[in-house]
Amino acid sequence: MKKFVTVLLAVSVLASLVGCGKKSSLDKDTLVMATNAEFPPYEYYEGDEIIGIDAEIAQAICDELGKELKIEDMAFDSIVTAVSSGKADFGAAGMTVTEDRKKNVLFTDTYAQASQVVIVKEGSDIATPDDLAGKTIGVQLGTTGDIYVSDVEGATVERYNKGFEAVQSLLTDKIDAVVIDQEPAKVFVQENEGLVILEEHFTDEEYAIAVAKDNDELQKAINEALAKLKESGKLDEIVAKYITAE
Ligand code: GLN
Repeated sequence: MKKFVTVLLAVSVLASLVGCGKKSSLDKDTLVMATNAEFPPYEYYEGDEIIGIDAEIAQAICDELGKELKIEDMAFDSIVTAVSSGKADFGAAGMTVTEDRKKNVLFTDTYAQASQVVIVKEGSDIATPDDLAGKTIGVQLGTTGDIYVSDVEGATVERYNKGFEAVQSLLTDKIDAVVIDQEPAKVFVQENEGLVILEEHFTDEEYAIAVAKDNDELQKAINEALAKLKESGKLDEIVAKYITAE
C-alpha cells in the first residue's frame, strides 16, 4: 500500500512538472487581477475600494466565468511580470497592446480605443506634439507615453510613478508638458485649473487584458466573456458610467 501511494505521489508530481500539469486559472475559484489604481477613470480608489472601468469589466468577466475577483494594486511597470510569473491571473490596467509586451504576455481582444495626449499649461508655446522636441516632458514610468516620448528629439523625459505626480510637476513649472492617456488626462485637467489638452493626439492605441503566455485557456474564456459583454451592451454601459460623451 505504502509503495502504491509513493508511486501515485511520484506520478502526480511528475504530471505537474510536465505539460499536462499546465496551470490554468480556470481551475481556481478566485482570479487575481493586477492593476495600478492611479489611472482614473479606469482604476482608482474610492475610499479603500478600487473602482473604475477596468474593475467593473473584470467583475463582469468574473461573473460570466463564475469566479471571484481579487484586485491587487501595484506599480504599472510590475504588472507584466506579475502576470507572466503567475502571481496574478490577468492584468487589466488601461494597458495598451504593444509588440514588445506581446513577447512576455498574451493579450485578449481589445476593449477600448485610447490615445496618448499632451497636457500643457494654458498659454504654453507647445501647440502640437511636434513642438515637444527639446522640451522637458513628464510621463508615467513604463507606460507607452514613456516609451514613445523617449524617441522625441532632444527631449528630456521625467519619469514618475503616478501620472498625477507628473501633472503636479507641470503645475509647478518643473516640466513643460505631460504625455499620458486621454481619459486620465481629462480627469487631471478637470481637477486642476490652468491646464489644457492639445487637440492633436500623440499616438492612437488600444487597450486589452494581459494573461500569461501559457494561459491561453483563460485568454479564450475572457475573449468569450468580453464578446458577450460587447453584444449585450454591458460594456458600453460600464464605460458610459465613467466617461460622459462630449
Ligand atoms: N496605456 C498606457 C500603457 O499601456 C498607460 C497605462 C497606465 O498607466 N495604466 O502603457
